[in-house]
Formats: sequence, structure tokens, C-alpha cells
Amino acid sequence: MKQSFYDLNFSDLEAVVNQNNLNPSVAAVLFNWHYKKKQSSQCHNKISKSSLAFFEQNFDFFLPEIDTVYESQKDRSVKFLFKLKDNHKVETVLIPFNNKYSICLSSQVGCAMNCSFCFTGEQGLKRNLTTSEIVGQFLKAWRWLAANRPGEERILNIVFMGQGEPLHNFDAVKKACEIFLSQHGTSIGVQKITVSTAGYIPGLKRWSREAPGVNLALSLHSPFEEKRNELIPINKKYPLDEVLAYIDKIPLNKKQFVTYEYILIKDFNDSPDDAKKLGMLLAGKSAYINLIPFNSFPGSRYRCPDLDKVEKFKEVLDAFKIPTLIRGAKGDDVLAACGQLNSNNQY
Ligand code: SF4
Repeated sequence: MKQSFYDLNFSDLEAVVNQNNLNPSVAAVLFNWHYKKKQSSQCHNKISKSSLAFFEQNFDFFLPEIDTVYESQKDRSVKFLFKLKDNHKVETVLIPFNNKYSICLSSQVGCAMNCSFCFTGEQGLKRNLTTSEIVGQFLKAWRWLAANRPGEERILNIVFMGQGEPLHNFDAVKKACEIFLSQHGTSIGVQKITVSTAGYIPGLKRWSREAPGVNLALSLHSPFEEKRNELIPINKKYPLDEVLAYIDKIPLNKKQFVTYEYILIKDFNDSPDDAKKLGMLLAGKSAYINLIPFNSFPGSRYRCPDLDKVEKFKEVLDAFKIPTLIRGAKGDDVLAACGQLNSNNQY
């Protein structure tokens, strides 16, 4: 079976070129063609026929296919259902802001973490995505914008907050980040990529040694162990205090920061006491908090709090001088908002 071209980062590609005595410029030419120019056809510029034949014989250029596109009528978010080679499916979301987009990428088919506030958690884990399936979501979404919203194909931020626990698929996610960051390719800035985790400590251990300098987000959701156990079952194995201790040890460069995500659930974790405990936990850290009012999904057991309760929660955090943003739902009319993705449940 041929290897996917899109599984290679730039160093891998250079090694292939060197080992096969091809012209050293071929690596930059191909990265530029497929990632900077985002072309779907084969590259015929600045590359010899023999080099082209080598890549055609030894690599495939397959990317996930777009199965269905859901466009939000409310805010122009776009959700893609992608079909993979083995017919598994994953979802990806383009989130608009000021005529630009952030893209929310999936890292696994389903997820093993089984978080109770998340529709993906109900799917269970089917398998990890490959690097090519991760970068493919980005390339196909970009091409869809170019074809359907010409002039708007500007995806400036990448967040690994779609389906799956990214640190549970560390190698493929790391390599995808390296491809996105490569100056020969999409050349996205390190501060524009965020990888989210539910607190998977084996992945955090590797993160502290190997992460390619991108930002980290922790799904925190409750400062109380019991409540967090209910929301994020792996908290029983990897408790919050241990997770926070690991994160504190991660050496951050000047452009890196940690965001703490907090889904607010009515009458569960939205009281002033919850906010005060959260503030005490994060005070003094270089932390940002995103407050996300819960987005419901078919069969969900939780509800979204009233806006005044959300604002009161933020006021308590403001007193701790922790920068806090209330994140309004985007794409919730097509089940594209935070916690609503589920590639088994189409409607
Ligand atoms: S919130 Fe993230 S880690 Fe938890 S089940 Fe959903 S996709 Fe998995």
C-alpha cells in the first residue's frame, strides 16, 4: 500500500528526497504546491518528470471526502461531515469571525473519554485519525471556501477541539501541527494553533517535552473533583490537581498560553461558589478562562444557564483578575457548537 504524501512533515519529505537522490529542491516545491497553494492536482512546475513519477509510484494523495455540508443560517458557521477511506466519518467546523475563519479539527473517530456533556463521547473510540486525515480536513475546508465563498478562504486559527482527545493521538496531532507551522506550507503562526485536552496526563507528559510550541487548552469544567468526575470520567484516573501540576511545569515560550475551558451547566456548576473555587484554583497563573454556556444535543441531560447567571459567574472571576471571556454559541442550529459533534448522528 502506498504511503500518504500528507502523512509527511517537511523533514520526513526531505529525508525521502535525499534517500532517493532526487533534486533537493523537490521537497520545498511539493510542500509549496500542496500546502501553500493548496492545489489538488499533481504538481508539474519546477519538478522533473522522474521526480514526479517517483512520487506517483510511491505515494497517494488521497484526502477525506466531503460527505455533507451543513451551513448555519444563524451565523455562517459551516460543519463538514467527512468520509474517510474506510467509510468512518468525522466532523469539522469552520467558525467565522470578521470575514475570516477558525477551524475546529477532529483528531479521532469518536472518543474514548466519554465526557457526559459531549455528544462525541457517546460514540466511543473507533480509531485515531492519521496525520493526512487531520491536515486533509483543513485543506478540504479551505478548498470548499474557495469554491463556495470566494475571497473568504482565510483560515487563520486552528483549534483541536473537534471529535477526539488530541493528546490521546499525540503523534499524528504533533505531526499535523508541524505541517501547519512549516514555512514551506501553510505557515500558520504558533500562537494561532491551540490543542485542547480533557487532562490526559500521558499526553501532557509528552507535551511538556515534545510539543511544537502551540497553545494548550484544558477542559476544566469544575474545580470540584466529584463534579469533574461526572463530567470527565478520566478525572478519576488523572485528577485535576495532578493535571494542573503537570500544566504548571510545562515551560511556555513568550507566545504560548494556557486557556481553561469551562462549560457552564444550569444548576450544576454555575453557582457563585463554583466560580469562587475556580478563581482560587487559577489565581496567580497566567490563565485565560473561556466560559461556554452548555450547548444541548439530542438526549442531553444538562441545560444551559440563564444569561444573568453566566454574567454573575464572570463577575466573580473578574474579582480574581483572571481574563475571562463568555463564548457565545456559534453554529448550534446545525449541531456544530462546542460539545455537539457526533458523526454517527446526522439529521
Ligand atoms: S469533550 Fe473532548 S475529550 Fe471529552 S468526549 Fe468530547 S471529544 Fe472526547
